[in-house]
Amino acid sequence: MPELPEVETVVRGLRRTILNQTIASVYINSPQIARAYFEGDLGAMKGRKFIDIRRRGKNILIDLDGGQTLWVHLKMTGHFYYLPKDAPIDKHDHLIFYFKKGKHSLHFNDYRRFGYMRLVPTSDLPHRRGLKELGPEPLEVKLPEFINLFRRAKRMIKPALLDQTFLAGLGNIYTDEALYLAKIHPRRLTGTLSDKKLAELHRIIQALLKKAISKTGTSVDTFAGVDGKPGGFQKYLKVYGREGEKCRTCGGAIRREKIGSRSSHFCPHCQRLR
Ligand SMILES: [Zn+2]
Repeated sequence: MPELPEVETVVRGLRRTILNQTIASVYINSPQIARAYFEGDLGAMKGRKFIDIRRRGKNILIDLDGGQTLWVHLKMTGHFYYLPKDAPIDKHDHLIFYFKKGKHSLHFNDYRRFGYMRLVPTSDLPHRRGLKELGPEPLEVKLPEFINLFRRAKRMIKPALLDQTFLAGLGNIYTDEALYLAKIHPRRLTGTLSDKKLAELHRIIQALLKKAISKTGTSVDTFAGVDGKPGGFQKYLKVYGREGEKCRTCGGAIRREKIGSRSSHFCPHCQRLR
């Protein structure tokens, strides 16, 4: 699933392509899919202009003039593609925006259909489930607040970092990578880490996410940016997807274990559970 760096890559791609564009028409591929996938009358966006594009956790928020926001979650296989106007329509393109100017259109494609698109009043966003309970942004949270998160909760660190109400935006890839870099076992209890260790983790998470964004995300699955290009961070992964391969620090084998409900990749030698 796209995580913070991948969603940020899409947001930046949308800003480069559709910001300030006015919608000439909205093509909805299948009314049945639209009923299950959309909330609100997405056809009513005709004539509106995209005035801002933001990210909150793994959510994409596209503001339109007139006080409405298109709220999109990509989940597993949601993609925005900015394509020439005459590009063929894929059967999994749920929606296409055509613009008043330029030679391109924006396709939204999701073949597994776990994502969603909701057109909601911008002023309602802070009260909506799925947004209101989100934890702080990992790239914005200051160290004292970050330390407090861990002091408040006594739980295993891996499921805590995956919990969007704890921190918003991390998923399986970046939690495994961050814990490896910080030499923290994924089963370690949050309340047992020293302030010094948490300061290190805080720095590591921010540096990791920034580097992944600079490489336009990780494509270990179908992830691609608005330009259709895959991310480039997969070649920097140290543990995720490397079960049985050599740890680049100690040479031991990377292990994969189910922790909470998700699989975790880690080095049992470098990430000891004390
Ligand atoms: Zn190791």
